[in-house]
Amino acid sequence: MLRLLEKAEQTHQLTKEEIVELLSEENYDEALFASADRVRRSFVGDGVHLRGLIEFSNICKQNCLYCGLRRDNKKIRRYRLTSQEIIDFAAKAVQYGYKTVVLQSGEDDSYDVDTMTTIIRQLKEMELAVTLSLGEKSRADYAAYKAAGADRYLLRIETSDRELYEKLDPGQSWDNRYRCLLDLKELGFELGTGCLVGLPGQSLESIADDILLFAKLDADMVGIGPFIANPDTPLAQAENGAFALSRKVMALTRLLLPEANIPATTAMEALHPQGRILALQSGANVVMPNVTEGEYRKMYLLYPGKICLNDTPAHCRGCITGKINGIGRHVATDFGFRNKKNK
Ligand code: SAH
Ligand code: SF4
Repeated sequence: MLRLLEKAEQTHQLTKEEIVELLSEENYDEALFASADRVRRSFVGDGVHLRGLIEFSNICKQNCLYCGLRRDNKKIRRYRLTSQEIIDFAAKAVQYGYKTVVLQSGEDDSYDVDTMTTIIRQLKEMELAVTLSLGEKSRADYAAYKAAGADRYLLRIETSDRELYEKLDPGQSWDNRYRCLLDLKELGFELGTGCLVGLPGQSLESIADDILLFAKLDADMVGIGPFIANPDTPLAQAENGAFALSRKVMALTRLLLPEANIPATTAMEALHPQGRILALQSGANVVMPNVTEGEYRKMYLLYPGKICLNDTPAHCRGCITGKINGIGRHVATDFGFRNKKNK
């Protein structure tokens, strides 16, 4: 097993069988995390990139079985921020020293291409790197966002298992989601994808396929998080995905994609009080503090147990900086592009 890890650390390659072997075995977890930590340090360094997350609408036309924003969930209060509110939150993100804002929402068609491109242009005037996470759109829409200046796009494949995906995301096609990823890449976005770990019906083999898919796509960013059962969804009774397994999937992703930007996801911390710090010590190099304020934060409830619901963005900035410094790392001051166009 240690030889396998050594090979992965040197060559950044593993077969599906080898990944499954590492995922099934628990006795070498610490060695795996240490190996991912060394690869992280040597390829992307000790700087941690902070991306300010703006959750601008919790209205969604999709019905993913795991997600609290699904259209059939009548229990949440819905909201949409105006363009001006989004710009105002972004201005605050600049004040906190964030170099990137991530605009995330449900699939809400009320933000048409003109609205989005106008917002993107204004954000670019504020000298921010702009990441979008708006779900599946047409290639033409993606092209318009790019032309307006958007830099990156996050769209998790969720699972590489087509059958499982189509069961959990009724009405959506795996092929279309994959088409979105290829379009985004071809259009020149920095491409972010990722998966949920511990979905009901997901096997270790299928998780190994997920990791190999990230490598095949040569993803620039990979977000991995445990599935957390949401009581207001059809998966209310399902078991939570495990923290330990998610951390291993993340560490293996670092070994296979040594240059990628990998966030310590908020969902990790929802399952473990030190979740993000442990993730940063097992391959991750990015944190996405929330810059959405007040009630909105509580209303953007993908899963229960979301952290920092009552904290202000200023508090989050201070808190995460302290944690990062506490493990001998520092907050990076560049834009944090993978392809080193950081100035
Ligand atoms: N609508 C967009 C972006 C918002 S959802 C999209 O779907 O791409 C952002 C991410 O939240 C999803 O990709 C999914 O992986 C995650 N998510 C949703 N429900 C979750 C749950 N119950 N537990 C953990 N993560 C969840
Ligand atoms: Fe909508 Fe995204 Fe949630 Fe699916 S995961 S219901 S697309 S917000």
